[in-house]
Amino acid sequence: MGVTARHGGAGRNAPVSIMSTDWNKLIKEGLQGASGRSISREEPATQTLEGGCRSLLVRAAGGEDRQRGRSVYVVLPKTMVPQVLRLLHNVSTGGHLGVQKLQAKVKDRFYWPGWFRDVKTWVRECVDCASRKSHGKQPCAPMQTLVPSRPFERVALDILGPLPETPNKNKYILVISDYFSKWTEAFPLPNQEAQSISKVLTEEWVCRFGANRSIHSDQGRNFESTLFKELCSLLSIHKSRTSPYHPQSDGLVERFNRTLLSMLALFVEDNQLNWDKLLPYVMLVYRSSVHASTSFTPYRVLFGREIVLPVDIMLNIDKHETFSSADEYVSRLQETLSSVVNAVKRHQIRASGRQKDSYDFRANFQYYSEGELVWVHNKARKRGVCAKLQRRFKGPFRVRKWLTEVLYRLVPVEGGSESVVHFNRLKPYTCSLAASSAPTSQDEYQRGPAFRARRCSRGFPRRLAPRPI
Ligand SMILES: [Zn+2]
Repeated sequence: MGVTARHGGAGRNAPVSIMSTDWNKLIKEGLQGASGRSISREEPATQTLEGGCRSLLVRAAGGEDRQRGRSVYVVLPKTMVPQVLRLLHNVSTGGHLGVQKLQAKVKDRFYWPGWFRDVKTWVRECVDCASRKSHGKQPCAPMQTLVPSRPFERVALDILGPLPETPNKNKYILVISDYFSKWTEAFPLPNQEAQSISKVLTEEWVCRFGANRSIHSDQGRNFESTLFKELCSLLSIHKSRTSPYHPQSDGLVERFNRTLLSMLALFVEDNQLNWDKLLPYVMLVYRSSVHASTSFTPYRVLFGREIVLPVDIMLNIDKHETFSSADEYVSRLQETLSSVVNAVKRHQIRASGRQKDSYDFRANFQYYSEGELVWVHNKARKRGVCAKLQRRFKGPFRVRKWLTEVLYRLVPVEGGSESVVHFNRLKPYTCSLAASSAPTSQDEYQRGPAFRARRCSRGFPRRLAPRPI
């Protein structure tokens, strides 16, 4: 790598001594010093720069360069490259512009062997750029599919709201949904405290459908409270949760919430205060409708038959079978449920496979090994601060542990508490951890001007091939 200088947060405020160099004066003096003969690639003029470094002035080949008004290039000593790049990129007049714009600026002013690659590296390693910008395709992990094997094995919990407070003092909706049958309940709640949620979950769900093997929720403080965790522990329910700022991992309730809100919006009164009274009716519609991922209605998956709606009675189109005894009903129900459950499993596996294929088509995935440094997309918003002017990434963080295919436990390099972050919020940390430091090596210039001139000539791009003027 040609550029040995390091960026760093302090780079923005670092003193830029090269600013004291008057390049136009330098070129003018160089040209006057070579009076009587033209500067060519073979016989470049030398000029002493600040700090005792010596540079070359080389006449451009002509053509495009002449048209751009540039006839002489400063062949920059390697030791001054970081200062020039910092001046052109890192300070406020540089503006932290991208690779191509910086390359164009350098190309108009300087030349040194390997400048094109050095500019690219400089921008790639810039901490300030990395904390604000993202390059290329966004990280996108493959879809994690988990197909449950029976009803009520795994359920999802979510809180929807706040909504306008109704005369019954309700402001929130507790949504509980079964991953297998898609049977979903929506309970109006006056608040979203852990105590209210635990009471409804126990009395209205567990007492009716039994305890679940696992419950999935987001990281809301109500679901993370001691009370709720103790309830899960008492009922032997495994509690899992989404990773922060990644609600996609709770897709079932996210989709249901959208459906529920759009149905409520169609029937709610103008003052929007009767939504809690509408909930039972809206849920009847949802549970008696075919769900795309099972190809059955939730009601049929649970009860082995379709629900009888008032319209069926009114129109006398109730085609349900009759049974001579409870025993006959139970044995027929077992047969029906067995075939329905098998069909649901097959359909869910096919549907989740299709979903995964389509989702993974746009996946952009990689593994981070333990100890690797990463940036984390910062979605936390500060009060009173414009989000559009905030830096988008924070870091660096070190990968402490790889928890699942897409979840990582991270610790800040500068110290602090650990956090669990989804892959989609990460990007590799390509900058150096070292603070900004200018290069000290003078090796190249201790080898003598002949060596430098030879290297410079050989390193010129073809467009600038040496040619006497
Ligand atoms: Zn930058």
